[in-house]
Amino acid sequence: MLVYAKIDSLQEKLTFYKSNASIGFVPTMGALHQGHLSLIEEAKKYNDIVVVSIFVNPTQFDKKEDLDNYPITMDSDLEMLEKIGCDIVFVPTANEMYKDGLNSEHFNFGGIEYEMEGAFREGHFDGVGTVVKRLFEIVKPHNSYFGEKDFQQLQIIKALVKVEQMNIRIVGCPIYRESDGLAMSSRNERLTKEHRKSAPFIRETLLKAKEKFGTENALTVLKWVDDAFEKHALLDLEYFSIADEKSLKPISQRVQNHDYRGFIAVMAGEIRLIDNIEL
Ligand code: AMP
Repeated sequence: MLVYAKIDSLQEKLTFYKSNASIGFVPTMGALHQGHLSLIEEAKKYNDIVVVSIFVNPTQFDKKEDLDNYPITMDSDLEMLEKIGCDIVFVPTANEMYKDGLNSEHFNFGGIEYEMEGAFREGHFDGVGTVVKRLFEIVKPHNSYFGEKDFQQLQIIKALVKVEQMNIRIVGCPIYRESDGLAMSSRNERLTKEHRKSAPFIRETLLKAKEKFGTENALTVLKWVDDAFEKHALLDLEYFSIADEKSLKPISQRVQNHDYRGFIAVMAGEIRLIDNIEL
């Protein structure tokens, strides 16, 4: 496995492969877990070379303390990547990625950037768009893999390659979960014991909401989820939204032949957790 911190040396190596090899790319912020590895496994199946980046991108954090507390576990990350058979790891510094300072480009993704995470985390998707566009320009992958755990982000990246006319196939991968149903996340490690014990309630509530959405209207389900969290002593609901999978616009009434998803963000003490479910 080759590890590069500099764009030039990474690109020199990639140019060597490029002409006859398909490149699969998995961008991450490190603190790797089985969820990340499932994306890498998928990339390995369909590409000759798998590149993984580890970069905690400052411009996508709306809260400084969240960035400051983001877990960094580089040694174990590299060990896991070596073991799974990753070919190349790119570990740039912020200076290497942002030569002209830590600024985000402003994107127009057709409105999906203002819903949910976009509404609650100011500038988040401009930061994500900026860093992923830059990474795509550097790596020039054929295929790139993103988790449905961050479903809105996945739709944003699909919009990004369209807007920027990049010829990259964006592949969405299913949410990988702990055995108790909690969506795996680098943030889970930072939960207190009590919050970690309570956190599967998020997935349980989504599953019940899905069942209810089969027989009840959207407004009733929204209210039911609100009430469920209202009664919970340790988890605070930031939002639960039932939205069209494509436009990500929240609905209050269902329309035939549309696919819907439930999206949720919850504060477990200091830690913000997100999840979603196909309805
Ligand atoms: P992150 O390092 O959290 O920015 O995540 C890097 C990539 O891994 C993103 O595409 C995430 O959606 C994906 N990812 C994170 N957690 C999971 C999970 N539990 N299941 C599937 N994909 C995930």
